[in-house]
Formats: sequence, structure tokens, C-alpha cells
Amino acid sequence: MSQLEIKDLHISIGDKPIVKGLSLTIRQGEVHAIMGPNGTGKSTLAKAIAGHPDYTITGGDVLIEGKSILEMEPDERARAGIFLAFQYPSEIPGVTIANFIRAALQARMAEGEELDATGYYKRLYSKMDLLKIDRKFTSRAVNEGFSGGEKKRCEILQMAMLEPAFALMDETDSGLDIDALRIVAEGVNTLRGEKLGVLMITHYQRLLNYIVPDFVHVMYDGRIVKSGDKSLALELEAKGYDWVKKELVA
Ligand code: ADP
Ligand code: MG
Repeated sequence: MSQLEIKDLHISIGDKPIVKGLSLTIRQGEVHAIMGPNGTGKSTLAKAIAGHPDYTITGGDVLIEGKSILEMEPDERARAGIFLAFQYPSEIPGVTIANFIRAALQARMAEGEELDATGYYKRLYSKMDLLKIDRKFTSRAVNEGFSGGEKKRCEILQMAMLEPAFALMDETDSGLDIDALRIVAEGVNTLRGEKLGVLMITHYQRLLNYIVPDFVHVMYDGRIVKSGDKSLALELEAKGYDWVKKELVA
């Protein structure tokens, strides 16, 4: 059983410190939710862990099975087991979902190794059945003209095929899209299991109507200020983020 360990992490964008000493350990099999108001650094955390070049780690460490991943390129991090679902996924006109996922799997293989096409489609279709995705879906171009829900469905399918050890899922902050929320939750609930660790990032307590995390963390001003189980999310729903802010001041 592997674990993703975030240790006293500090992240800056340019000269501006955004994440200010955040520690969190996610084991395979666990679902963690990070909740917090807008601008708190939730997306920054996910992108920096995945290796986005705009974010500078100024302190702390991120380890998988005790080994730091900070010197790794984004593709090496993916091979080490990290999957980042983007908050705003890009469109890739002309590239079908089926070919995109196939290329992603091929890229992870050793040089000279060839992905078996028949086996690939068999696995793709079985995952689509599992996730109740229509066969027609994978012949569409990646994210082109997709609704919020379709973008999320595309991500969940990528995740099912890549079988990461740790999935970082950044929920959309703008425009409450219940359809998208439900698709992500159903996908995560289906893929949930002892080989998958999930970090669910969300602004909305409502997510917890669809998915029951093992741990809930409240992030405020670049730090985790409170951790608990799912009851913490209900408390947040009832009292709002102001409650956390007031406790911090007191
Ligand atoms: P959250 O996901 O919790 O809403 P973000 O991680 O997106 O928060 O943003 C945290 C802070 O970093 C905000 O103050 C935001 O304005 C700033 N920020 C995010 N991305 C950038 C960027 N590319 N350049 C400059 N500032 C940014
Ligand atoms: Mg965000």
C-alpha cells in the first residue's frame, strides 16, 4: 500500500506565497476532501503536485512511498502514480477521446513496447460499461464543445484507464453544475477501492451529498486549519466558512 505524503509544503506564484505550510498524507484506498473558500490555494496545491511549471515550491516536500517527486517532470510524476483532473480541461480538436487515452497509455510504456490495439479497445469498452458511458462518446474530439458534465465524464474515463494510485480532482468553482458534480461523484464511487487514493478539491459542501469522503480538511489562506471526518463537512454546510475564520481569530 503506497502513500502520497505532503509535508509542510510551501508554494509561490511568482513572489507571492499561496500555500503556506500544508501537510497531508493520503493512502491508497482513502478519499480525502479539501474544502475551502475561493482563492485559498486549493487549485495551486493540486497543480503544483502534478508539476505545473507556473508554481514554485519554496519549502517542504511531496513524497510517494517515501521518495520525493519534486525533481520529477510532470510525465514522470504521472508514471509514479499521480493523476490530475483539471479544473478547466483543454480542448484538443481533431483528436478523439479513444486515441487520446491510447496515446497517454502508450507514452507510459517503455521504449519499443507497443500497446496492443485489440486489448486496448476491449479494456476501454469494459471501463465504459462500468462507468455507463455511451460507446459513441469516445469517437468525439477531446473536450470539443463538451458540456461541464461531458468534460468530467471524459476525465473519469481517463482516470479509469490510467489507473493512477493517486487522483487529484479539482472541482469547478464557477457556475454550480450539479450534472458535473454528480458525474464526478458517481465515477469516483465506482472507481473507489484499495488501489486508489483520492484528493477531492471542492468549494461546495454539496459534493458530500454524492460522495462520502473518509477525511475532510478545511483549507484557509494556504493552510489546512481543520481536519475531521464527513461530519465536518455537514458542520461547514450548516455554519459556513465564516465559522472557521472566526475560530482562527479567537
Ligand atoms: P482556489 O482554488 O482555492 O480558489 P487558487 O489556488 O486558484 O485558489 O488561487 C490562490 C491564489 O493564487 C489566489 O489569490 C489567486 O488569485 C492566485 N493565483 C492563482 N493562479 C495564479 C496565477 N497563474 N498567477 C497569479 N496568481 C494566481
Ligand atoms: Mg480552484
